[in-house]
Amino acid sequence: MADLALKGVRKAFGGLEVIKGVDLDIRDGEFVVFVGPSGCGKSTLLRMIAGLETVTGGEVSIGGKVMNGVPAPRRGISMVFQSYALYPHMSVRENMSFGLQIAGMDKAETTRRVEAAAEILQIGDYLDRAPRALSGGQRQRVAIGRAIVREPEVFLFDEPLSNLDAALRGQTRVEIARLHARLGTTMIYVTHDQTEAMTLADRIVVLRGGRVEQVGTPLELYRAPANDFVAGFIGGHT
Ligand code: ADP
Ligand code: MG
Repeated sequence: MADLALKGVRKAFGGLEVIKGVDLDIRDGEFVVFVGPSGCGKSTLLRMIAGLETVTGGEVSIGGKVMNGVPAPRRGISMVFQSYALYPHMSVRENMSFGLQIAGMDKAETTRRVEAAAEILQIGDYLDRAPRALSGGQRQRVAIGRAIVREPEVFLFDEPLSNLDAALRGQTRVEIARLHARLGTTMIYVTHDQTEAMTLADRIVVLRGGRVEQVGTPLELYRAPANDFVAGFIGGHT
C-alpha cells in the first residue's frame, strides 16, 4: 500500500498543454474518484501516475518516492481499462498468469495468486474458458483479476464499467467496493457516472480543462459545490 502525491503536475502534447498544474495528496488506502467532462485530462493524469505517459512538469510520488522516470512496471501500480484487452487465444487462467510468468515468478506462487484473485472475484469456475466464452461483466472481472495478481500498491481504473449494461455495471461496482474493503489498497477511479462516484469515493476530484476544480468527500461536494460546474457533476444543485 502507498500514499500518492502529485505536485504541480503538467502535461503538454506538442505545444498544447492539457494538464495545467495538478496538486493532489492521496492517503494510503484511500479511494479517490476523478470526474470531469470528456477531454478534461482524466486519462492523461492516470497514465502519468501509471508511468505510461511522461510528465512535462511537476512530480508524481508514490510512497514518498519520486516516480518521474521510473518505468511503469516498477511503480507498483496496476491499471484496469475500459476495454478489457484480454488475450483472445489464452484461457482466463493464462490471461491472469501471463504477466507474472514473464516477470519470472515461479509456477506455485503464480497459481496461488491466480486462485486467490479468482476466489475474490468469483471467477473460479471460468479459469479454463476462453475470453470469448464469457459475458462482458465476466471479462471485466478477469481484467480486474489480472490487475490483482500483481499485488499492486495502487490500483488505477479508467472508466472500467463503461462498456457494461446497467445491471452489470451496478453489480461490478459493488464488487469493486468489496475489493477495496478487502484489500485496503489505494485506488484511483475515473468515471463519468455520478452514482459510481458518489458510492465508491472517499473523495471526489472534479477536473476541468486540465485543472482541479474542487476536491472533497461526496457529501462535501453535494452540500457545498464550489460552483455550478461542480454542482452539475454531483447532481441536484443546478
Ligand atoms: P479524458 O480522459 O478526461 O476524456 P484525456 O486525458 O483523454 O481526457 O485527454 C485530455 C486532452 O489531451 C484531450 O484534449 C485529448 O485530445 C488530448 N490528448 C490525449 N492524449 C493525447 C496524445 N497522445 N496526443 C495529443 N493529444 C492528446
Ligand atoms: Mg478518458
